[in-house]
Amino acid sequence: MTELFRGNRLDVVLKLAERCNLACPYCYYFEQENNISELSRALIPEQTVIDTARFLRQGAQEMGIKNIFLGLHGGEPTLLPKKRFDRMCTIFREELADYTQLHIGMQTNGTLVDAEWIDLFAKHNVMVGVSIDGPKDVHDRQRPDRRGRGSYDNSVRGLKLLQQAAKERRIPATGVLCVANPDLHGGDVIRHFVEELDVHSLNLLLPREGHNNTYLQSQDKWIRYFNEVIDYWLQTRGSNPVRIYLLTEIVLALMSEEYAEGLDYQRANRHGIVTVSAEGFLGPDDNIMALDKAFCLTDVTVRNTTLAQFFGSPIWQTLVKSIDTPPTKCASCDWYRTCRSGDLFNRYAPGTHFDQASVFCETLDSIHTAMASIVSQREGALETMAGILATAPRHAARDFLNPVATA
Ligand code: SF4
Repeated sequence: MTELFRGNRLDVVLKLAERCNLACPYCYYFEQENNISELSRALIPEQTVIDTARFLRQGAQEMGIKNIFLGLHGGEPTLLPKKRFDRMCTIFREELADYTQLHIGMQTNGTLVDAEWIDLFAKHNVMVGVSIDGPKDVHDRQRPDRRGRGSYDNSVRGLKLLQQAAKERRIPATGVLCVANPDLHGGDVIRHFVEELDVHSLNLLLPREGHNNTYLQSQDKWIRYFNEVIDYWLQTRGSNPVRIYLLTEIVLALMSEEYAEGLDYQRANRHGIVTVSAEGFLGPDDNIMALDKAFCLTDVTVRNTTLAQFFGSPIWQTLVKSIDTPPTKCASCDWYRTCRSGDLFNRYAPGTHFDQASVFCETLDSIHTAMASIVSQREGALETMAGILATAPRHAARDFLNPVATA
């Protein structure tokens, strides 16, 4: 297992553009209750880039962080002019080169990706993920532009350019991020990616809903949706395989202690994202900021705080404690090692914060049961799986200030 999975990495989300050319109705950042983006200007100024790079350099030096994953987000990050993007990547590489290994990624809707963007991704070795929600009719309904027009054709055009560049080994492989929707047939959605778009690496995103949500769909619908996904996924194995991270990571962890430990680390660091706004404001994962204004730090910036001070903040320490304190239901659950209570934001309720199991608990239980059934068909796998599930997680939540030795 590489050092990346042994706890020496920091994930940073940097908001290049606090505006978007699409208007997806489910977007927590622009279309729902919070006003995070209003606190920032539209595009990241160069001074914020310089200040952020120095802030990270100082933090990496002080805490010995050996890998930083810089995720370029928005809004839509390709709204940043290309020259400014080029200069920004150069600044980060120059400022951080002697202190930490920098990995750059971008999540984009793909609509503005063209040959010049591909050249920039190749120049700066940027891993790019494209957000696509399924077949054209579905995607156009869920991801319209600001004038109500569907964005599928432009997103797929961008995806194809990225796939071609990856085939030519100019850029790392491109993955797809799809927001799961139980109103659809799960198998049909995945079939579209594999058979129509030649996508073989994707992740399904569960909505960022906590227990206070009033429009969460029934768990029966979600379980049916994922059963359809799993049925199709099983059909593809061997002939035309697709890696669906939500499923693959559980199967691998149930088969091998090494992978289980890697997943432990990922699960233990679900809180571990530092968000930097275009203005330089700091916060935790913006999915968490969007849950409650109490998680928004409106006076803490890369200019007036060090990374160590940020990790010492009550909000960060609350998240660390929440990861390490399983809700009562999870503490006795057979799947705790590989589920670890689901995503933090799906555990949230006002007042009790993260004290309860995920709102998707029944669905997660169903997915784990299906994955265990697949693994158990392999000879000798039952005993290994039982041993893995009976082992307590080896990684505690990393708070960077007080590194916890792993077992
Ligand atoms: S399946 Fe449910 S009870 Fe079990 S660990 Fe996951 S969220 Fe907790």
